Amino acid sequence: MVDTQLVDGSGRRIDYVRMSVTDRCDFRCVYCMAEEMTFLPREQVLTLEEIQRLAGIFVGQGVKKIRLTGGEPLVRKGIVGLCAQIAALPGLKELVMTTNGSQLVRLAKPLADAGVQRLNISLDSLDSEKFRAITRTGDLQQVLAGIDAAREAGFKRIKLNVVVMKGRNADEVPALVDYALERGLDISFIEEMPLGNVGRSRGESFCSSDEVRATIAQRYQLIDSTESSGGPARYVRVEGYPASRIGFISPHSHNFCSTCNRVRMTAEGRLLLCLGQENSIDMRGLVRRHPTSDAPILQALGKALQHKPAHHDFSVDGEVQIVRFMNASGG
Ligand code: SAM
Ligand code: SF4
Repeated sequence: MVDTQLVDGSGRRIDYVRMSVTDRCDFRCVYCMAEEMTFLPREQVLTLEEIQRLAGIFVGQGVKKIRLTGGEPLVRKGIVGLCAQIAALPGLKELVMTTNGSQLVRLAKPLADAGVQRLNISLDSLDSEKFRAITRTGDLQQVLAGIDAAREAGFKRIKLNVVVMKGRNADEVPALVDYALERGLDISFIEEMPLGNVGRSRGESFCSSDEVRATIAQRYQLIDSTESSGGPARYVRVEGYPASRIGFISPHSHNFCSTCNRVRMTAEGRLLLCLGQENSIDMRGLVRRHPTSDAPILQALGKALQHKPAHHDFSVDGEVQIVRFMNASGG
């Protein structure tokens, strides 16, 4: 199989693309969105055909892994069919998805059947009231039922994602770990990133991965691991629970930029070269201007990659440096 042809200006090989299929969502998580959001008009969002075409172009260039995300990918009409089309692209090794789990009771099995191999499901709390407070609109029982449906649907792996915030859910770290270990699921704890003005200072609630790890280590024996799932998480194994891994995603305390192998595409087709910077190219304009020829798109892509930033510019005081919200970036 050919190696990726997408190499950036710092020599990093890009073989992983995260594609946001919508900026819309049925939740309004406090770290991701403001309470009142204006979403993109439909004509500015890539059509399913455009997303499929771009996925084909990336895979043709040697991309091995595609993650569909959002917004909430499962609120996009036609998502299962899109998954089936992308999963069938020759050369793609893995199609995976990040979801808030609210639609999984209905969609877990169709997604697995369509060829989605792994799911990341966000779960920030096991307490219905706290869950509602964090997601503003979410129903915990619906998400837990969705996780059960996903466990039965035959995915290769399921990972829970937790954004840890002091004063909101940091006290639930042990309960969330128990929940994952009892079910043989992976779980990743994420440091909050300063994307978009969400109407509060993020610095106050910041909880470092080192603190989370220390909390878990009080109950479980943790074994360092060099495993990678192709993303930014660092993993540990847990003595006595061989099926699970615990991950830490630490954009602040452990900068992961030097091994960055990915780019992101927003729902409106902006290819973001780095989550923490504004450099991007307008893929929507390119696909709409060149409906039948891929050559100009490939040329623009190769040129843009030379400008992928060497590192992000987040700082721990939590001040907003990037005006984009996470739902627009494709987490
Ligand atoms: N709606 C889906 C979900 O929530 O899983 C997929 C999109 S969401 C933007 C992708 C991931 O980004 C989720 O795990 C979410 O917790 C995380 N996320 C959103 N805003 C964040 C922020 N400001 N800092 C760190 N992680 C964030
Ligand atoms: Fe929606 Fe996911 Fe953002 Fe929460 S984190 S508001 S579920 S896109």
